[in-house]
Amino acid sequence: MCEKYDLAHVSTGDILREAVARETKVGLEAKSFMDRGELVPDQVVIAIVKDKLAEIGERGFVLDGFPRTLAQAEALDVALEDLALPLEHVFSLEVSDEELVRRLSGRRVCPDCGEPYHLVSKPSTVEGKCDKCGGQLVHRADDQPDAIRNRLKVYSEQTSPLLGYYRTKGLLIGIDAVGGIQDILARISGVLDR
Ligand code: AMP
Repeated sequence: MCEKYDLAHVSTGDILREAVARETKVGLEAKSFMDRGELVPDQVVIAIVKDKLAEIGERGFVLDGFPRTLAQAEALDVALEDLALPLEHVFSLEVSDEELVRRLSGRRVCPDCGEPYHLVSKPSTVEGKCDKCGGQLVHRADDQPDAIRNRLKVYSEQTSPLLGYYRTKGLLIGIDAVGGIQDILARISGVLDR
């Protein structure tokens, strides 16, 4: 999607995982929160996103996994105002908890190139090996059952209030996220192309 619309993709999860792998100061601070399925403290994540937005400049962007708390949403409003950039749409990808647990518990990822797999719906050709680069696939610590349960609880307590926040601003668009990746992308494109 980002290629089709020439948008920068800013995933706070990817940025944090890279910081953990490189053992930077941010990575060392974030790791234990991430492994437990807790949110990394707001000030850390907000600083990361502000830096990225300043880097991106005029080009459009998709923020993926951010904001996840009201404090982050408010900080984003201020940052975008400072940069004179508008927030045009907020997509809420809607899927049941049961389906989320199925997706997350079966997910395997390549730590070398980032390619995601699923044990049932997108298995690698050779078990445990990345089709793209031959890396050894891993089961992320935050995709283990206890961490998944915690992530769902954190979402309901800290992130779901953002639905009301963006609905009030007239920006929220619910997307039925059941089905294949291409189907879901087509639903989002349908909104962007309007
Ligand atoms: P994700 O890949 O988006 O599910 O993110 C993986 C993990 O990174 C999350 O479970 C959090 O620990 C951390 N993380 C990512 N984005 C944020 C955010 N906006 N605020 C706090 N923690 C985050």
